[in-house]
Formats: sequence, C-alpha cells, structure tokens
Amino acid sequence: MSVKRSNSQKQIISVLKELKEEINAQDLYVKLRQRGDKLGLATVYRGLKALKLEGTIQERVSPTGESFYSVISKEHQHHLNCVGCGRSLSLDTCPLEQQALEPYQAENFKVFYHTLEFFGLCSVCQNQQPN
Ligand SMILES: [Zn+2]
Ligand SMILES: [Zn+2]
Repeated sequence: MSVKRSNSQKQIISVLKELKEEINAQDLYVKLRQRGDKLGLATVYRGLKALKLEGTIQERVSPTGESFYSVISKEHQHHLNCVGCGRSLSLDTCPLEQQALEPYQAENFKVFYHTLEFFGLCSVCQNQQPN
C-alpha cells in the first residue's frame, strides 16, 4: 500500500512523535499553531482521521468521551486503572503475545493496534475497603 501524505498530515505526525504521549485534537491544534503551522481545526480532524485509517495513529476515547491520539508504537503501554482513586499504573510489558494476534491476520484483517485496560482497586484503596 503506497501512502501519500499531505503536508498537514506530516505536520501532525511530527508533533505526535515529539510528544511521545497522547493528546486531544484541540491541544494538538494549539501545538501546531505554536510551531507556526497554520492549520485549521477542521484540517487537523481530517488529518487525524486519514492517519487513523492508514494505521499510523491510534485513538483512545477517555471515560469522559474525549478522544486522545498518539502514534502507534511497538512500545505501547497498558494500564491498571484504580476505580477507587482514579490512578493509572502502567504495565512494562504487553500481556498479549504476538501469536495471539495471528489468527486475526489470517482472516485477512490487518491489525493496526490493540487496547487493553484493567480496572480494579490499587493496594491503598483495597486497605480502605470496609469489611
Ligand atoms: Zn486506588
Ligand atoms: Zn499490548
């Protein structure tokens, strides 16, 4: 698949790569303007959508319904989310083995990325549970 990117898409990727963390479209728009890239918000949204379809970036929807974008990387992280205090602990490794994904590739489905979130109580919150 040959990929032809517009200038705006290149600018979006370059900002996302520099950040190394997820960002919402509004903040990304502000960052682009700070760098002197005069993109409109609609162009930013269009660029994000195109890059998502291309498998370059991923979108995570937060519990509040807001979308966050980041570059898909092999060193992605999964989180343990505490429903008590709201803290997120990141895992160093991915619990999904690469072989686990192979059956989906075989079905002619091209997997760009996956997400996996764990919810529960951290050690501090467990000790605060009335029993
Ligand atoms: Zn907690
Ligand atoms: Zn993973």
